[in-house]
Amino acid sequence: MTFTDKVVAVTGAGRGIGQEIARAFASQGAKVALISRSASSCGGAAEEINKTYPGSCTAYPVDVADHEAVAVLAKKIADEMGAVNILVNNAGVTRDGLLMRMKEDDWDTVLDTNLKGAFNTVKAFMRPMMKGENSRIINIASVIGLIGNAGQANYSASKAGLIGFTKAVARELAGRAVTCNAIAPGFITTDMTDELPDNVKEAVIGKIPLASFGTTDDIAQAVLFLASPAARYVTGQVIAVDGGMTM
Ligand code: NDP
Repeated sequence: MTFTDKVVAVTGAGRGIGQEIARAFASQGAKVALISRSASSCGGAAEEINKTYPGSCTAYPVDVADHEAVAVLAKKIADEMGAVNILVNNAGVTRDGLLMRMKEDDWDTVLDTNLKGAFNTVKAFMRPMMKGENSRIINIASVIGLIGNAGQANYSASKAGLIGFTKAVARELAGRAVTCNAIAPGFITTDMTDELPDNVKEAVIGKIPLASFGTTDDIAQAVLFLASPAARYVTGQVIAVDGGMTM
């Protein structure tokens, strides 16, 4: 198995894409720290995956926007699981609304979680990753960070920022053989997209050449590739996994 004994930290792993990424790494022999906001969410996800891959997953609740709490958590994970080799920044939220009506709090919550959250985790985990061999950072951005979207100024800015952050980190850490890449999912079936009204879903599907929403496994497979030895020479890239939507 490709990731035997690797220690992987996945944020936003309580459900959706993050849980699937955690499951995919567990299936390949990794030890996975599932991080999410609520203990019940990451705890439930870890319990579920451990039924199939016993002992692979441990739950660690934290708010990724809380700089101090993330630093404390990183130390706890290193003590309990060993140094993290692969960090996947997947935690994300939406607070959609047209700019005219968007509240300051909607802006701050989205930027603090989606962008500052990644800054917090990279800062907290980077030192041991720089000392390790072939460490990997993978950030889950969004096609909305590439093309924008009406009603998502906060989310678009956070994901575009995450892409810039990815490239800067890739350049800074390349000398230590740490790669940093982003995946830009299109529309993927999860709780986040379940909220969309049916007519909006139909309109979106009309713009996707492969004519359907993607699955959480489509994203997990791309993450496994970027984390694998096969992607040794790939860094600073944004891979769109979007059914051709943004080609
Ligand atoms: P979900 O809403 O299904 O799950 C989000 C996860 O992030 C949850 O586990 C949640 O924790 C966690 N989370 C949210 N805020 C915080 C926080 N402050 N601290 C720690 N954890 C937090 O999202 P998806 O699976 O749909 O999306 C995952 C990522 O993929 C996001 O970054 C999203 O922007 C991105 N994406 C998704 C797309 C889609 O179509 N679904 C498309 C493009 C990008 P808890 O469970 O405890 O609430």
